[in-house]
Amino acid sequence: MTNKKIRVRFAPSPTGPLHMGGVRTALFNYLFARKHGGDFLLRIEDTDQTRFVKNAEQYIVQSLTWCGITIDEGIGAEPQGEYGPYRQSERKNLYRNFAYDLIASSNAYYAFDTPEELAKLREQGELSKQPFVYNYLTRKNLCNSLTLSEQEVAQRIANNEPYVIRFKMPENQDIQLFDEIRKEVHFNTKELDDKVLYKSDGMPTYHLANVVDDYTMGITHVIRGEEWLSSMPLHVLLYRAFGWETDMPKFSHLPLILKPQGQGKLSKRDGDKLGFPVFPLNWVGDEGETAAGYKESGYLPEAFVNMLALLGWNPGTEQEIFTMNELIDAFSLERVGKAGSKFDPEKTKWFNQQWIQRKSNNELALLVEPIIKQEGIDAPLAYIEKVCGMVKERAVFIQDLWLQANYFYKAPESYDPKVIEKRWNSSIPPILQEICSILESQTSFESIHLEETIKQYIHDNQLNMGQVFNCLRLSIVGTSAGAHLFDIFEMIGKQETITRIQKAIQVIQ
Ligand code: GLU
Repeated sequence: MTNKKIRVRFAPSPTGPLHMGGVRTALFNYLFARKHGGDFLLRIEDTDQTRFVKNAEQYIVQSLTWCGITIDEGIGAEPQGEYGPYRQSERKNLYRNFAYDLIASSNAYYAFDTPEELAKLREQGELSKQPFVYNYLTRKNLCNSLTLSEQEVAQRIANNEPYVIRFKMPENQDIQLFDEIRKEVHFNTKELDDKVLYKSDGMPTYHLANVVDDYTMGITHVIRGEEWLSSMPLHVLLYRAFGWETDMPKFSHLPLILKPQGQGKLSKRDGDKLGFPVFPLNWVGDEGETAAGYKESGYLPEAFVNMLALLGWNPGTEQEIFTMNELIDAFSLERVGKAGSKFDPEKTKWFNQQWIQRKSNNELALLVEPIIKQEGIDAPLAYIEKVCGMVKERAVFIQDLWLQANYFYKAPESYDPKVIEKRWNSSIPPILQEICSILESQTSFESIHLEETIKQYIHDNQLNMGQVFNCLRLSIVGTSAGAHLFDIFEMIGKQETITRIQKAIQVIQ
């Protein structure tokens, strides 16, 4: 490796919300940059105006921010940096000149074939079962600057006739490429078509813009999804055609993320179908369409990032829980595999549960406070903190810190009929009345003290401990679940405890 500063980029197209596979690509780029003291750039590849989605760019930046993936340069960085602009739509003119350079060096040519003519050729190709490809064979018979005279080309351009610029793929060359993850990749240029580099709407295609930007932005390593592996030969040939081969970045194509069951790539629609989020944040599209995000579903960014890091990268040890800094320390491209890795929603929940345990009660309280407020409850942060400490062990999602603990904040609105049927009978109300009187007379309302006192009462009166406790819990919580009974008493206090028991006596008959 040269001692050039490492520079990597995440280069999404703003065509919709960022899929978790995209976040993983960003994460691997980020980890690699941090590990080697390099730069992590965000570039927006918005050359395809037909697929442009307005909120997508902002969504991408917000998603990376939520994950703790900080952007050094480009969109989302302040200031953006010296290699900008970082949106391809704002770099249009640059690409045109590079496309002309390729024509000048005979590596590209003008093509005037109309969309109708090409559609017809494709149709004929389908009928004769010989698919039409614009390549070294067919280009000799088509309407382009390889077949037209120089004069005619100049005339057509002067007449503002629409044209595209195509790459002139070399004929029949065996080429060997190197991918850091897949190692040697072989192909013959015969297999490739003359891709359009520059479109008639004055925009470059992805291929031209991507290569020009990686080169002009000093990118040293391209780390991207496997779906781009098939573009690598063209990209490498473009570097050669431009005479930039010595500065060509190293390529790594990350393995696919597969569906939890069966085969195939995890798609944007799988979340809805299979009931788990595939996006980092909630998404609301231009037409009001929505998709669920990890954040709003109650996941911690640490858990999401931890889970993503292990999709395709193997730390080589038993360790499963990693902080971002630990990931940076441990990460290497050598330990990224070729095979696709199955996404496991259950394991993802496990990561979240683990990460909730690692958070301080104060951090958890701050996360759950807005949910509690939304329920119309105004509880002091210190109180929420205490509750979090008592229930976090069983919480899988942030909202569990409310859902599984709401009895700490409000009286039950109903009582579990199954518990009533099993435990409640006419002997219970007088017993609970008695217990209320005992509670009323206590000067200390500490859990341990209350437990001793009530147990003593039950013992002295030869009552059924299980039954009385169940009925007390039913009165306070509404079900048979929840934290230690007398801890709840202590937390909600004497007045509230007695009020809830009295209410239960009245309601349950
Ligand atoms: N714009 C491409 C995408 O949407 C970037 C691929 C690359 O990283 O070269 O993923």
